[in-house]
Amino acid sequence: MIQVGKTLPKENQIKLKQAYMDACSDKDFREYVEKIDLSDEALQNYTTRLEEAKEEYVHCRNCSSIEECKNLLKGHVLSSKIEGKGLNFSYEACPYYKSQEKKYAYQHNITCFDLPKEIKKASFKDVYKDDKNRLPIIKYFKEFIDSYEKGERKKGIYLHGSFGSGKTYLIAALFNELAKKEVSSVLVYYPELLRSLKASFGSDYDEKYEFIKKAPLLLLDDIGAENTTAWSRDEVLGPILQYRMDEHLPTFFTSNLTMDELENNLSITNYDKVKAKRIIERINQLSIPMALISKNRRN
Ligand code: ADP
Ligand code: MG
Repeated sequence: MIQVGKTLPKENQIKLKQAYMDACSDKDFREYVEKIDLSDEALQNYTTRLEEAKEEYVHCRNCSSIEECKNLLKGHVLSSKIEGKGLNFSYEACPYYKSQEKKYAYQHNITCFDLPKEIKKASFKDVYKDDKNRLPIIKYFKEFIDSYEKGERKKGIYLHGSFGSGKTYLIAALFNELAKKEVSSVLVYYPELLRSLKASFGSDYDEKYEFIKKAPLLLLDDIGAENTTAWSRDEVLGPILQYRMDEHLPTFFTSNLTMDELENNLSITNYDKVKAKRIIERINQLSIPMALISKNRRN
């Protein structure tokens, strides 16, 4: 708060008064200050800030959505509040911002590792319906939501198909739907998970690994795009899948590879074909393979 007024020399007080009166020649400024229950003598200490606040107030008066917001902080407005004998200025969230916050409140139930944040906004409502290939998947999702609510066991999906066909988007839409019902989920970009786990040896490896392993719903995104090593297959993937099978935790996968191709990808040498097969068996226990063949939606 600015401490002015009586302590200022007379000539400065005259300057402040003049500036305030000049500002009052503006109709919007007058309208703005008339709403504040303070005398002109008190208000004239804040002319510059009041003018800024008035600008934002005028923007808000003519605004009907957050996208149109012209204010310095999107969805916020510089507001003045009376405090003691003076004014205090702060940025307040506008009603459009607040309703958007409410709309996306479910997002606290979703944790993404190395996937674009927008994925948390994916919704069934926006899923392309033009493509018949999506319909069986969407049907399965509807059943999944129903049975999940009833506490029944249900397999996830191993969704394979071409790059950009919308695999990640679709599964994110399902998770978001369930997040609205307070079901927590984790989406992990699998190739990056391996890199980041490797980098976090000795620090927060266990914490991250356990969090992912135990997620009520899990998506391992883009499995098969990584460079398989014995470590990633036998020490990371294998135990995650085993745990989730034992605990009946629904697990989803996306991949550019079919399960057969993934099996090849997981066998590094002829010796460990058996190990690759065991991973595929677990994936099969956890999920139903489905294909999404569609055009590339990436621009
Ligand atoms: P994939 O995982 O199959 O490679 P993505 O799920 O990443 O493909 O989708 C590719 C792009 O298309 C993304 O930018 C995504 O946001 C967008 N997209 C995909 N499906 C939809 C959809 N049903 N509605 C809106 N945008 C979509
Ligand atoms: Mg993807």
